[in-house]
Amino acid sequence: MVEKSDDDYMKRMTNALRSGAKMLSEHCPICGSPIFEIKEELWCLRCNKRVVKVKSDEEVGQALSVYTLTITASTLAVKIEELTILLSRAVEVDEVKRLSETLEILLKTLEQTLKVRKLLREEES
Ligand SMILES: [Zn+2]
Repeated sequence: MVEKSDDDYMKRMTNALRSGAKMLSEHCPICGSPIFEIKEELWCLRCNKRVVKVKSDEEVGQALSVYTLTITASTLAVKIEELTILLSRAVEVDEVKRLSETLEILLKTLEQTLKVRKLLREEES
């Protein structure tokens, strides 16, 4: 006996193949059906949903964090350099104070960023 959903699935598959979709060797992580490439997008026609290919959440999370934090650290380093130049040119007490305070925050943030990044790296290895 063919269920209604199977019927729909067959219809979607036929239509997709007719319109040039490619059946891939990969399978849907949810239902195990073959994945189709339709207009450069991956689709599971049984779930009738788009499939987004990613590594495991953990892998992406870790890689992204170390990568992001490296960018954060170098951005902070550039800002610290800029502020140091401004500070060396500052004459007014208020300005020196303001710049020093900002510098302090940046240095603390940089320290934290590097600490967290180190922890993430250690987790990876
Ligand atoms: Zn599926």
